[in-house]
Amino acid sequence: MAKVHQFDVIVVGAGGAGLMAGLYASRGAKTAVISKLYPTRSHTGAAQGGISAALGNYEEDKPEWHTYDTVKGSDYLGDQDAIEFMCNEAIEAVLELEHMGLPFDRTPQGKISQRPFGGHTNNETGKPVRRAAHAADRTGHMILQTLYQQCLKNKVNFFDEYQVLDFLIVNGRAAGVVAIELATGELHTFHAKAVIFATGGHGRIFEVTSNAYVYTGDGAAILLRHGLPLEDMEFFQFHPTGIYKLGILITEGVRGEGGVLINGKGERFMPKYAPTVKDLASRDVVSRAIYTEIRAGNGVDGKNYVWLDARPETINKFAALDGRLNPDGTPYTITGEQVLQKLPDIIDFCRVYLGVDPITQMMPIQPTAHYTMGGIPTNKFGEVVIDDRNTVFPGLYAAGECACVSVHGANRLGTNSLLDLVVFGKHAGLKAAEYAKNADWQNLPGDADAGARSALDALRNGSGKENAFDITVEMKKVMFEDVGIYRNEKGMRAAIEKVRELKERFKHVRVADTGRIFNTELLNAWELGNMLEIAEVVAECALNRQESRGGHSREDFPERDDENWLKHTLAWHTGGKTRVEYKPVTITKYQPKKRVY
Ligand SMILES: Cc1cc2nc3c(=O)[nH]c(=O)nc-3n(C[C@H](O)[C@H](O)[C@H](O)COP(=O)(O)OP(=O)(O)OC[C@H]3O[C@@H](n4cnc5c(N)ncnc54)[C@H](O)[C@@H]3O)c2cc1C
Repeated sequence: MAKVHQFDVIVVGAGGAGLMAGLYASRGAKTAVISKLYPTRSHTGAAQGGISAALGNYEEDKPEWHTYDTVKGSDYLGDQDAIEFMCNEAIEAVLELEHMGLPFDRTPQGKISQRPFGGHTNNETGKPVRRAAHAADRTGHMILQTLYQQCLKNKVNFFDEYQVLDFLIVNGRAAGVVAIELATGELHTFHAKAVIFATGGHGRIFEVTSNAYVYTGDGAAILLRHGLPLEDMEFFQFHPTGIYKLGILITEGVRGEGGVLINGKGERFMPKYAPTVKDLASRDVVSRAIYTEIRAGNGVDGKNYVWLDARPETINKFAALDGRLNPDGTPYTITGEQVLQKLPDIIDFCRVYLGVDPITQMMPIQPTAHYTMGGIPTNKFGEVVIDDRNTVFPGLYAAGECACVSVHGANRLGTNSLLDLVVFGKHAGLKAAEYAKNADWQNLPGDADAGARSALDALRNGSGKENAFDITVEMKKVMFEDVGIYRNEKGMRAAIEKVRELKERFKHVRVADTGRIFNTELLNAWELGNMLEIAEVVAECALNRQESRGGHSREDFPERDDENWLKHTLAWHTGGKTRVEYKPVTITKYQPKKRVY
């Protein structure tokens, strides 16, 4: 029998979204945060470029412009009421982080410094606007540290290195979770009135990815298994600039500071694809441009990578050609020392992992699987909704990358995720605490941990004919190749078949490590089970959507089709089968327009 704990609100995940939710929930309810990682190791800490808010600290900017850019960036699939809500709350959210002590970079006047990022524009001139508030190129690290300190100060209870394996439902309401304590292998039942999932994305289903090892879609897979739907799973963002082969992210901030993409022939190619914003076009556009160049034989040495050039002389040459100006109207130039000061971590990564010095050499890059747009459907208060009428599941909340509000629609704009965490993490925390205040306790059954126990036992007692590592490698490869940047029916059908075959093989996995203490082999195998289910749903939803929109690009349906496909997908996966239904997109002010780059 598992140990039992009782809290009003349980938050699963201690990244930006989980910590913000935990902080706000703890002000009104007895709250615990459970995390499979020590909190400050969460992926939020890897976020580099910045967090968006129309502060207008260098030049004019408005929440309305931020809203429209986000709607446009989402390729009109984002829900406009939620986007407007987020962009209006952005300024207060960033100032709140500042007041908590987050050490943002500063303008000469002492205000929070901001940099340009892809898709953020002055809506009147169409020119890039500086909207990304940043702390060098480690903005996420600073957010995570700041929020963790605030949580400690507010005495939030933490269960670090506990992995949640199951969600408990009693009388159709959230009633808690079951977790394994990694250090002992013991199961713990957490009885709660409200549960908030903030478990991050599932980029690890792809071969080349910028995502942390823990991005295995645990939260989404657990809820899927309990018969809840996931939204817009076909939409996954490929970031244009990952380090070749390694996938490690090179922030868009490099291009924000003036870096440009160069093909194997030494040409700057983005003006061909996006004449106005060029290298700062949305990520989907830049990733496809790189692939198109590679397919046309313009990769470096015929290989599947191109260069990112951030050498000061290159930046200065193209800034002059583009007529880029400083805020005071003087021509924009940069020195090697300034590049180093603004992008210290990137320079470090390249020096350490590649032996390349970006101040004097170009960086080899290829698109990398980066961000999960789809996920657990929620409304703008973080409440999980379970059908096309947005019916709320009592006591269940989700926030951050695992959730789909949907503010990112078919494609997320850079720096809007950190914002999403802070805004929706806060509201999920507030709502959960309010709910817990009025809700009754649900009685847990005596065998509440049975589901988690049997999932682990299956992996301990399998026939042993199959090896989890091999299955993982095969899944990642087929998903990256056939459900990646470019997709077509034939490839996706093959991918679905492959994933189903891998799921069958997975039933025969037996872990070799029979120990209880930090049995990472066992938990990696359990995570693989999650990834296989998520991969199948992603591939099926992608096959189902017969159009190209944002990050979902079909070679056999190259156009966006608003008449038939301006709608969200809801996917259920029960009994090994995926069922797809739809939900309308909320459109308030902005009627869909063709994207112009
Ligand atoms: C390299 C990189 C750079 C990025 N740069 C930017 C940027 O500059 N600007 C921007 O806006 N966005 C950026 N993003 C995206 C953004 O950082 C992420 O979307 C965001 O940080 C996700 O936060 P989160 O709180 O949802 O999840 P995370 O920070 O990943 O936290 C997930 C938490 O869930 C826990 N967890 C997961 N499963 C379980 C389980 N089964 N049991 C218990 N705990 C569990 C983990 O321990 C972790 O604490 C970047 C992403 C990457 C990968």
